[in-house]
Amino acid sequence: MKEIILIKDGELALKGLNRRNFEDKMISNIRRRLKTLGDIKITTSQSTIYIEPVSEDFDFEKALEYMQLVFGVAAFSRACVCEKTVEDILSKAPVYLADTMKSVKTFKVEAKRSDKSFPLTSPEISREVGGVLLKNFHHLRVDVHNPDIIITVEVRDFAAYIRGAQIKGAGGLPVGTSGRAQVLISGGIDSPVAAWTMAKRGLTLNAIHFASPPYTSVRAEMKVKTLLSKVAKYSGTIKLAIVPFTEIQEEIGKCCPEDYFTLIMRRMMMRIACRVAESDGCLGLVTGESLGQVASQTLPALAATDQVCTMPVMRPLIGMDKEEIILISKKIDAFETSILPYEDCCTVFTPKHPHTKPKKGQCEKAEIKLDIEPLIERAIEGIEYCYIEP
Ligand code: ATP
Ligand code: MG
Repeated sequence: MKEIILIKDGELALKGLNRRNFEDKMISNIRRRLKTLGDIKITTSQSTIYIEPVSEDFDFEKALEYMQLVFGVAAFSRACVCEKTVEDILSKAPVYLADTMKSVKTFKVEAKRSDKSFPLTSPEISREVGGVLLKNFHHLRVDVHNPDIIITVEVRDFAAYIRGAQIKGAGGLPVGTSGRAQVLISGGIDSPVAAWTMAKRGLTLNAIHFASPPYTSVRAEMKVKTLLSKVAKYSGTIKLAIVPFTEIQEEIGKCCPEDYFTLIMRRMMMRIACRVAESDGCLGLVTGESLGQVASQTLPALAATDQVCTMPVMRPLIGMDKEEIILISKKIDAFETSILPYEDCCTVFTPKHPHTKPKKGQCEKAEIKLDIEPLIERAIEGIEYCYIEP
């Protein structure tokens, strides 16, 4: 029996004239996601996207799994393709739905008919299909108010489709519809979650990581790449810039008051991130900061880091508790990697008593002996780029 995937795009319906752009982007994202599984044909009609396998060996189960990783997809379902005849629909329904119907007690059939020349009306289709299911599965009962499952029969232009329950999609907006931004990625729990959250809002992601060898190890860098590959499952390929940060940290250690180490280090990260982002066509930065979580994430500290930024900084976790963040981290399969105990450059040079309430102008004073411009230039020169695949 021939099966297809039907997709409903939730929020896209709200986008008015832009709708077409959003839909095109989502379709190209779906194509990219499924391309290793075999040939497919994608068509759209009346706010539904149809994915039809073309190659014989198309991996349908894997495709259903991958569909849950595509942002913009509100819900989807697998459906059986029938000829547009009452006989074909009634003969295929009990066979196609056999496993599904065995797992429920009550059901309801909803029919939709866009082809008005079909011999039965929608209520008649529902009645006939309901009847044939009752005849084949004696344990079933119809419940129109609160059924265990709704079976949908749609008679469209070229075929009819029978489908069971819908599967919830990843939601959000198609990646690529909100522009490009650069995430500051550490090996921690928060920044991969921040990256995922913003990709969900349609951003294409670049990433930047600051490494301080020999204080930080190759394994710490590998950890960052693994975390990004988890995000890339949803966002697509991510360009990663690895910035050598050792010299800057050592200079901060030599030239600046200890209680300002972290703040000045974060300001240096932001300065470099803005420049790299701009040269890579990004319009904003993304970080995993959450208000009050650590000394460098108080509001005065965030203000002091924002002062050196030349583009918007998105902090999607700002109002979340650690538990809420961990929930998402586990959902995207990043948590087990994030908690591996490798050092981050932030943890290497931590002051005993970090400043939590820097006043305006104090950071500038504290970094006065730092030769900022040449340090930034050397760090940028030493950047190594790579591409992280899903
Ligand atoms: P995370 O769990 O994401 O590491 P955190 O709670 O440990 O965050 P910080 O270490 O203060 O907090 O880092 C705050 C944010 O700064 C991170 O979420 C990340 O966006 C960025 N960041 C921290 N360290 C690095 C790094 N080595 N390279 C790039 N970005 C970093
Ligand atoms: Mg960290």
